[in-house]
Amino acid sequence: MRALVTGGAGFIGSHLVDALVAAGHDVVVVDDLSRGRREHVPDGADLVVLDICDTALGDVVAQAAPEVVFHEAAQIDVRSSVRDPLADAGTNVVGTVNVLSACAGAGVRRVVFASTGGAIYGDTEVIPTPETQPCAPESPYGTGKLCAEAYGGTFQRIKGLEFVALRYANVYGPRQDPHGEAGVVAIFATRLHRGEPCVINGAGTQTRDYVYVGDVVAANLQALTVTSPAVFNIGTGVETDVNELYARLRAIAGSSHHAEHGPGKPGEQRRSALDVSLARDGLRWQPAVDLDTGLRRTFDFFGGS
Ligand code: NAD
Repeated sequence: MRALVTGGAGFIGSHLVDALVAAGHDVVVVDDLSRGRREHVPDGADLVVLDICDTALGDVVAQAAPEVVFHEAAQIDVRSSVRDPLADAGTNVVGTVNVLSACAGAGVRRVVFASTGGAIYGDTEVIPTPETQPCAPESPYGTGKLCAEAYGGTFQRIKGLEFVALRYANVYGPRQDPHGEAGVVAIFATRLHRGEPCVINGAGTQTRDYVYVGDVVAANLQALTVTSPAVFNIGTGVETDVNELYARLRAIAGSSHHAEHGPGKPGEQRRSALDVSLARDGLRWQPAVDLDTGLRRTFDFFGGS
């Protein structure tokens, strides 16, 4: 199969490209390298350095002639979407429309879209949260992803472009950028390796659903097989608070350092965990890597990088 991965030089995208190449597929990556790294793209894949908003994207997709496009490229920083919603929408909404138009024009069969389960539902008491829960995003980032999903549905109806949206929980694993604001596991793992203090925002009781990147890749591969394209949560259903996450990583590191507590982040979502029953039944997917195993792999990676 021929596949194109936008954002394929980034954290999740590059793991997906590795898996596609290993399975013998022909892979083209489109990434502007704003956050991704050339060295994360394996030798077996072709890299086109291009902004997904560029009008040249149509020609690039037509020339690559993929059967499936995995759309991972995005502005991923929730807080920066609050500071600059226009820039966020430019990449995550307009850029996605450009990707969908390019795919429809090039006769692509299916688009698999990286959406968010962590930011799309907003602060809800329904935990773990199913896909049927009304979406009430608390950030422009979440709104942009919801809007992009809606565009995907429209392209499916009017252009026959099959559209599968995967609403990822908090993804962690090797290669995640420890320098950004997201990626608490990467940040803690790096600091524990260096013997530097880790700072927990507020009391550390805010919960997230941490899903290992290899499981997210597996969900993307399963999205190729599903006969009724739909929206699926991809997570574990398990809530873990930041204090516990730190304690587990500290044990893996064999460190005796206690974390410092900084001020809480105003407006930060309190709880998040996704109900993944639909993915289990509809995608025949479920997470396979437990938290301690995933944390150890991630910790070991950051020790060697
Ligand atoms: P990442 O920043 O590592 O990867 C994104 C990639 O997209 C980078 O390589 C970047 O260079 C590229 N990119 C950004 N803007 C671009 C543009 N305009 N044109 C071309 N390329 C561009 O982030 P990630 O964590 O791997 O996220 C991948 C996808 O998964 C994103 O769509 C993100 O919104 C989504 N997602 C991630 C998480 C998570 O926990 N990491 C959770 C939910 C959803």
